[in-house]
Amino acid sequence: MTTPNDPITATSPLARLRAHMALAAKPARRKAEDITLIAISKTYGGEAILPLLQEGQRVFGENRVQEAQAKWPELKAQYPDVQLHLVGQLQSNKAEDAVALFDAIHSVDRPSLVIALAKAMEKLGRRIPVFVQVNIGAEEQKGGCAIADLPALLRQVREAGLPLAGLMCVPPAEIEAAPFFALLDKLADENGVEGLSMGMSGDFETAIQLGATHIRVGSALFGARG
Ligand SMILES: *Cc1c(COP(=O)(O)O)cnc(C)c1O
Repeated sequence: MTTPNDPITATSPLARLRAHMALAAKPARRKAEDITLIAISKTYGGEAILPLLQEGQRVFGENRVQEAQAKWPELKAQYPDVQLHLVGQLQSNKAEDAVALFDAIHSVDRPSLVIALAKAMEKLGRRIPVFVQVNIGAEEQKGGCAIADLPALLRQVREAGLPLAGLMCVPPAEIEAAPFFALLDKLADENGVEGLSMGMSGDFETAIQLGATHIRVGSALFGARG
């Protein structure tokens, strides 16, 4: 990993992605090692995930608690240092299951969920980092808190003692993501938050140039989902 791979000669999707991450980081004067690649394995089974584990990838993301419960305990038994991130919407009644299985949660977006997570962490004696998701394009059907509600929600997260890792967003599809990434970065600055979970297969390079600390990449690693 010390010699940046060449994206042309890289022999696996993971090696290619790592090479592209390094290329994107350079002009932004960032180090690729400072950016966490979360391999989003939703809909894929163990047979697709194992090759990535064998190649050294250890941080994975899922969007559903039940799906992750079905496939990860076995994989984690083989690779105990795996870190599992929840990137999909979370119902409050699944907060305890989520805290038990996952090592980070990217979709904290409302007061009731903060309360449920604080309770679950207290009960399980396990505190895991959380990202507050922002509905950055103000889209009706999307998860995430409204920009106007962000300061109050962050205050609540801090007062509840949840480890605050950063902000997360999924920008509107089909339009240029850069302005939304820049806005998330600005909101993080204004609110004294460090981490930025942003960028997916189609736009992770832009996200890296705009300050992403965590990128969430699925199809570029696993192929298109069916
Ligand atoms: C599926 C998903 C991703 C990965 O998307 P790709 O386009 O496959 O890279 C990232 N973030 C979230 C929240 C997702 O649900």
